[in-house]
Amino acid sequence: MQIKERLDEIEARIQAACDRAGRKRAEVTLIAVSKTQDTEQILKVIDCGISSFGENKVQELREKHEKLKEQSLEWHMIGHLQGNKVKYLPNLVCLIHSVDRLKIAQEIERVATKHNKVLDILIEVNVAKEDTKGGVFPEEVESLVREISKLPHVNIRGLMTVAPFTEEPEENRKYFRALHKIMVDLNEKNIDNVTMNVLSMGMTGDYEVAVEEGATHVRIGTGIFGERIYD
Ligand SMILES: *Cc1c(COP(=O)(O)O)cnc(C)c1O
Repeated sequence: MQIKERLDEIEARIQAACDRAGRKRAEVTLIAVSKTQDTEQILKVIDCGISSFGENKVQELREKHEKLKEQSLEWHMIGHLQGNKVKYLPNLVCLIHSVDRLKIAQEIERVATKHNKVLDILIEVNVAKEDTKGGVFPEEVESLVREISKLPHVNIRGLMTVAPFTEEPEENRKYFRALHKIMVDLNEKNIDNVTMNVLSMGMTGDYEVAVEEGATHVRIGTGIFGERIYD
């Protein structure tokens, strides 16, 4: 299958999931995860009308951002963050999905202040408590949100999770539902400066279930580009 056919299929499946859940298609942003993919492949996706892209490494993001600067795109940082790379993010990304510790939020604050900007972030939650994954455990989210909410140049927009790899997407429904509930519960606590409405969840294997459970952003890589080739 070619990129265009894959995207048509994904689009139809997102629409169907929205219909099942009584949601509007416009509530869900499809982020094409372009890590390891070259400019030529990315341009094919842009030609299909996609303008949101996700990368997990700052250096790769910088290179692609530079090569594709003529295009009007939104870039999302979805990977593990290193403190020494945060300084590049203000001019690169619209949303940082993967904040899972205060120290990195403090570094974002420092850099954002320098740029005179407020940066939008999500808190990454390790809902399934897998020890191979980043993210805070569910019971730690509130205290982290309370600390980060005090940083004036960091705006917490919502939550993100990477659910377990599974052949059976239904198995992840409970984790998506749990992430949604964490957000609703936190909003009810009326923490100063915190109103969350973004849920970044769902990847190639499980995005339909994620949309049914309230995802506002799905991050799809192999489903669009085909298998990743790492060299
Ligand atoms: C690679 C990656 C994705 C996309 O994964 P696919 O299974 O290829 O769709 C989504 N989110 C994160 C954080 C990733 O690193």
